[in-house]
Amino acid sequence: METGVFLEITGICNVCGRSGKMYTCSMCGTIVCADCYDHELGLCRSCKNILKGKKTLKDKKRKEILKDSKRNSKG
Ligand SMILES: [Zn+2]
Ligand SMILES: [Zn+2]
Repeated sequence: METGVFLEITGICNVCGRSGKMYTCSMCGTIVCADCYDHELGLCRSCKNILKGKKTLKDKKRKEILKDSKRNSKG
């Protein structure tokens, strides 16, 4: 029996498509691999870019997702 193991998620990364141990972005909820996940911020690459203030064409769509995750935290 393993001890001291947190809830581990295994699956396929939504960013690069790699399989293995996954992390959930605390901002958009996307499942990403360790490579695409920022452990310091707890965010996926996309959200990290948003925090950086980098505006992309996908920004509009991303905002919709953020709005949705906000709704979940309150209520
Ligand atoms: Zn990845
Ligand atoms: Zn994210």
